[in-house]
Amino acid sequence: MDMIKVQDLTFEYIRRDEDGNVESIQKAIDGISLDVKKGDFIAILGSNGSGKSTLAKHLNAILYPTDGTVWVNGMDTKEDDKLWSIRQTAGMVFQNPDNQIIASIVEEDVGFGPENIGVPSEEIWQRVETSLKAVGMLEYRNMSPNKLSGGQKQRVAIAGIMAMKPSCIILDEPTAMLDPNGRKDVIQTVRELNKKEKVTVILITHHMDEAVFADKIFVMEQGHIKMQGVPKEIFSKVDEIKQYRLDVPQVTELAYELKKEGISLPDGILTVDELVEAIKTALNIKNEKLTTK
Ligand code: ADP
Ligand code: MG
Repeated sequence: MDMIKVQDLTFEYIRRDEDGNVESIQKAIDGISLDVKKGDFIAILGSNGSGKSTLAKHLNAILYPTDGTVWVNGMDTKEDDKLWSIRQTAGMVFQNPDNQIIASIVEEDVGFGPENIGVPSEEIWQRVETSLKAVGMLEYRNMSPNKLSGGQKQRVAIAGIMAMKPSCIILDEPTAMLDPNGRKDVIQTVRELNKKEKVTVILITHHMDEAVFADKIFVMEQGHIKMQGVPKEIFSKVDEIKQYRLDVPQVTELAYELKKEGISLPDGILTVDELVEAIKTALNIKNEKLTTK
């Protein structure tokens, strides 16, 4: 069974005046279908306003479809009695860690979620410890979140979600407010949760280099999915990506420009190591040509 299944999803934001008359309709999602397999690491890319957050909010029943259906681990999000089960299955991490941290001590904050759903207190402490360990923040357990950097706070927010033992976490631009170091730590944390704890990850991001690690990428534009595939396929199509007002990873861009200058390189280079190897190969071929002349 898929972790997430979205079928023909359409969503409209409807604005009404005081009398309840419709003032405006904004179609934010326009007939999207997608499946996410259990254990997958998915990245969703798309420029501002393309509908990413609206889609994310459907995946843990914050919003309900205007049309179409969303299933989370087989549960239709429209069924009211499944709400808590859905929220426990698919946890959501938002952009701003300050809005997600409630308590004045790190470990209390992480324990807040499980306490809220009635987990017995002994198990709460176990979960707090495991989750803080998983995000590399155990040594900060007695600190005030105020003292932490943005990246550390975001890792505490992720631990708070992990303590609910979700099978899936959805992160909506979790690194948007972080510096490069904080970004790296958060992405590393998320990758480890995916690999070690087998948590299904749906990462919405503006940073192309964060999508390189995904099993699959979806590119959104104006409420549609315009591209989908493994990172190598997606980032091979530099011109198409740019058409959706997105960048490609810096290394991919450099390889693309070198190729345009006549250096023979494969498409979709994603890492520095790959580029180095490809350039070495390209230069060897050139040397051979020179010596055989
Ligand atoms: P993204 O997360 O990709 O930036 P959003 O899902 O936030 O995109 O927005 C998709 C579209 O829906 C945009 O045109 C946006 O203006 C509109 N939208 C988002 N939230 C609301 C809202 N609460 N009311 C009306 N329109 C909204
Ligand atoms: Mg958004």
